[in-house]
Amino acid sequence: MTPEFMVRAENVHKRFGRTEVLRGVDLAVRPGEVMCVIGPSGSGKSTFLRCVNHLEKIDGGRLWVNGRLVGYREKGGRLHELPERDVARQRREIGMVFQRFNLFPHMTALQNVMEAPVQVKGRGRTEAREQARALLERVGLGDKTGSYPAQLSGGQQQRVAIARALAMEPALMLFDEPTSALDPELVGDVLEVMKRLALDGMTMIVVTHEMGFAREVGDSLVFMDDGAVVEEGDPREVLANPSHPRTRDFLSRVL
Ligand code: ADP
Ligand code: MG
Repeated sequence: MTPEFMVRAENVHKRFGRTEVLRGVDLAVRPGEVMCVIGPSGSGKSTFLRCVNHLEKIDGGRLWVNGRLVGYREKGGRLHELPERDVARQRREIGMVFQRFNLFPHMTALQNVMEAPVQVKGRGRTEAREQARALLERVGLGDKTGSYPAQLSGGQQQRVAIARALAMEPALMLFDEPTSALDPELVGDVLEVMKRLALDGMTMIVVTHEMGFAREVGDSLVFMDDGAVVEEGDPREVLANPSHPRTRDFLSRVL
């Protein structure tokens, strides 16, 4: 059953020691939506994605992912958390693409994409290989199935990383500055793959500095600063006419 929200955060808090990194994040992403997230370095964007992907546990508030309540703390009460088994299941439903591609260096592109379906989902190798071929085709790398990461450009490696995440047939894709480490001339191909994925209906949260992508592909744009959502709205509106002074200040520095 499709939930009303793929991700919903209500007053989400996260602390590292005494540093409060998320100070009450509120946002919601519906199935099929693309939410782009911008904000200065250190504002908590990556930490929020890591909470959605269960790489970090929240300290307060409520967070739902794919219809399940991941964690919440009642006022003054104890923290409720999803059981480990459900966490493991949820992580299989979420694909994540990082700034660094993190491919297995000793495996070909095809082997990289096949690995998780075979190891985690127990899929047969023949079927997994066919699926991996189709996915590499889909990201424009049908001719690179036998190449090792070191033989591929950064942009090609990142597209393999996207194919590898898609191989798990995720309900949600998280992108954390997927093009920030790439040479400028390689950025376009990766964004193009992401755009097609969005048009195919994938639910996505994309942390990015690519305002053109946000404007063209995003259904919503969130500006985060200091661990909270400062402004959210239609990307075209927010970029053309930011309502909050901190958003204006940030955009004047990056645009
Ligand atoms: P962004 O992705 O917006 O640049 P991050 O979520 O990476 O921001 O980081 C937000 C803040 O949390 C930063 O001040 C960072 O130093 C801190 N932080 C992130 N991860 C950890 C950690 N594991 N331990 C301690 N501090 C952390
Ligand atoms: Mg980050």
